[in-house]
Amino acid sequence: MWPSRDGTTHPGTAPRGITPLEKPGIFAYMRRMQTVSAAPMPIPGHIDPVPVPRAPAAREDGRTDLIGLSRDGIREALAAAGLEPKQAKLRAKQLWHWIYNRGATDFSAMTDIAKAQHPWLAERFVIGRPDVVEAQVSNDGTRKWLLRSPDGQDYEMVFIPDADRGTLCVSSQVGCTLNCRFCHTGTMRLVRNLTAGEIVGQVMLARDSLGEWPSQPEGRLLTNIVMMGMGEPLYNFDEVKAGLQIVMDGDGLALSKRRITLSTSGVVPIMARAGEEIGVNLAVSLHAVTKEVRDEIVPLNKKYGIEELLQACADYPGANNARRITFEYVMLKDKNDSDADAHELVRLLRKYKLPAKVNLIPFNPWPGAPYECSTPERIRSFSNIVFEGGISAPVRTPRGRDIDAACGQLKTASEKKSRAQLDREAEEKFAALG
Ligand code: SAH
Ligand code: SF4
Repeated sequence: MWPSRDGTTHPGTAPRGITPLEKPGIFAYMRRMQTVSAAPMPIPGHIDPVPVPRAPAAREDGRTDLIGLSRDGIREALAAAGLEPKQAKLRAKQLWHWIYNRGATDFSAMTDIAKAQHPWLAERFVIGRPDVVEAQVSNDGTRKWLLRSPDGQDYEMVFIPDADRGTLCVSSQVGCTLNCRFCHTGTMRLVRNLTAGEIVGQVMLARDSLGEWPSQPEGRLLTNIVMMGMGEPLYNFDEVKAGLQIVMDGDGLALSKRRITLSTSGVVPIMARAGEEIGVNLAVSLHAVTKEVRDEIVPLNKKYGIEELLQACADYPGANNARRITFEYVMLKDKNDSDADAHELVRLLRKYKLPAKVNLIPFNPWPGAPYECSTPERIRSFSNIVFEGGISAPVRTPRGRDIDAACGQLKTASEKKSRAQLDREAEEKFAALG
C-alpha cells in the first residue's frame, strides 16, 4: 500500500519512481557479495577516518545517469557522445529544465527536443532514481524510505510533514565513521560516501512521491531540507556541495539556501568552506559542555575540542541574528542533562557571542543503546535555564519513532541483523545455489 498526498492509500500502485520491493534473488545477492568485498571500507577504531571517496559506479548497461551532473556536466556528456558544442549547450539547458523542473524521467516526454533525437538520448543516457527497497509511514505521518544504490548499498531518507512545512532529512553517507555513542547510524559496519546524484536523487524521489512536479515556488509540501540523515556531510564535502547546488538551482528544484540546513558533528577545518561555498544554514551537534562528556559521546571531540568548535561557529560565514546557528543537544539521562550543564551551555554560547538557538532532542532509543532519555521534568528544567539565559531552547518532538525514523535511529535493516544471522543467511543462500 502506498500513501498518497491526501493520506489515503492505493493498494498495488506505486507512485512514479517508486519500484516495488526488490526480491533478494541470486543475482542481487551475488552483486552484494562482490560489493562487500571490493568497495566499502570497514569502520576502523580510529576517531577521524575519512571514508575513501569512490567514483560513481558505472551502470551495467553502460548508460550515463544524468542525475547529479551539473549543467556543464550534462553539456560535456552530450558533447562527448558526439553532439556539436552549440547543440550540446542548448540540449543541456532543455534537459536540465525537464529533469529538475518537470521531474521527467523519460526522454520521450521532452516535447521541445526533436522526436528523432529521443532514441539517441535513451541509448546513451538515463534519468535515474534510487531503488526503493521499502517505504514506511509512521502513525504521525512521517515517512521513511530504504533506498538501494546500483552497487547494493542501502541508505535511508525521511520526510517529516508539519502544519507549516515539510522537511526532508537527507543522508550523505552509507553509515558513518564517527561512532557517536548515542547514534545507531554510527554503529554501521560499512561506510561509503553517497554521490551527488544519490543525494539529489533522494530529493527527486520525495518530489515524485509527493506529486510535486512541475517545480513551483508556492504550495509545496517539501519545503525544507536537512542534511541530518545517515552520515557526516562534511566528510563528503564535494558531493554534498555538488548535490545541494543542484537542489538550490533556480531553474530546477529551486529550494532556497535559507531552507536548507547542514548538520555537522564538528568537523572544524571544513566548516568555513561549507559557509562560503554552499551557504546553507548550519547546525552543530554539540551535545555536551565538558571535554570529558563530549569526548565520550562524540569521539570526534578528541580531535576538535569544544572551544575550537565554538570559535569555528563564531567565524561561520553568513551567521547572524536573522540566520542563527542551531546547536543540537541530545538529552541523555544523568550524562549531560544537569542544571549545571545548562548554565555552562549558556556561558559558552555567550562567551563566543554566537547567534544561537538550541534544539533539545530527547534521546531516541535503539536496541542495545548505552543511554536512556532524560525525564521530561529534567528536559523542561534544562530548557528553562537556557531560555532564561536569553537563548531559545525548544524541545524537539520525536517524529517517526515507531518506524525507527527519528534522529539517530537510522540504520538499515541488513545492518540491524547480527553478524551470526548474516552468516547463516549467506550459508543458506550458497546451499540454495548449489
Ligand atoms: N552526522 C551529522 C548529521 C546526522 S545526525 C551530525 O551528527 O550532526 C543528525 C542529528 O541526530 C545529530 O544532531 C545527532 O547527534 C542526532 N542524533 C543521533 N543519534 C540520536 C539519538 N539516538 N537520539 C536523538 N538524536 C540523535
Ligand atoms: Fe555520525 Fe552524526 Fe551519528 Fe555521530 S551523530 S555517528 S556524526 S551520523
